[in-house]
Amino acid sequence: MEQVICKICNTSSNLHLEGKVLSKYVVKYFKCASCGFIQTEQPYWLQEAYKNAITSLDIGLLTRNNHLLPIIQAIVLKFYDPTKQFIDYGGGYGVLVRLMRDAGFDYYRQDIYCENLFAKHFDITDLSPDNLRFELLTAFEVFEHLENPVAEMEKMLKYSDNILFSTELQPNQDVNFNNWWYFTPETGQHISLFTLASLEALAGRFGLHLYSNGKNIHLLTKKRLSSFTFSCIVKRKIARAYSEIFNRKPSYLPKDFNSILNKIRQ
Ligand SMILES: [Zn+2]
Ligand SMILES: [Zn+2]
Repeated sequence: MEQVICKICNTSSNLHLEGKVLSKYVVKYFKCASCGFIQTEQPYWLQEAYKNAITSLDIGLLTRNNHLLPIIQAIVLKFYDPTKQFIDYGGGYGVLVRLMRDAGFDYYRQDIYCENLFAKHFDITDLSPDNLRFELLTAFEVFEHLENPVAEMEKMLKYSDNILFSTELQPNQDVNFNNWWYFTPETGQHISLFTLASLEALAGRFGLHLYSNGKNIHLLTKKRLSSFTFSCIVKRKIARAYSEIFNRKPSYLPKDFNSILNKIRQ
């Protein structure tokens, strides 16, 4: 059987399926016998896949931000220091950064592939190089795009000890193009598909604790938290109520407006 080494746990990963990516390349997907992580063969098609960093298929972008907003706020308010600075890694157009700043959190955007449309002046490139540590790093719909998740985690951990992220976990043992939409081979961008066990292996490699809703929202953190509290607060209705009650932070909107005005006038 054709095998490669699992990028997450370094044991052997077996050929799981073959399928057409970007409607033309026949690509092999390997699944780890130990942690269940699925990786494609060496992804030589990425340059083509990222001609548009955010594909026309990502119509869920705005709704996703809507769902995530109260969850991020509740997690920050419950477990971390909301007065510190935050970073959205792979932050795309900057929608989440702007919304979090509107809600009173000092948020910045990082994304080397995508133009910053909504969070100009609040990019990591606007911060001084000696001020690049963050209370929490968020990375939504990023991990499934990573060619080398371990190396990328090392980069993320330079920014923060705490990583809150989303990626869909494989819903069953035998996922394929027909029974799981998340492969999206038409875009060629989803090349790393996780299981809970593979996230646990990742946490183990870096000595972090993993908290997950078992589906799509996960937290890798140096801090030891109550699993029960996490599983409650990550529920949207609870998160919404919690953040509404406990978020007393004033919006950054007026302050940001004036600081951008000053920059433009200079
Ligand atoms: Zn593995
Ligand atoms: Zn994606």
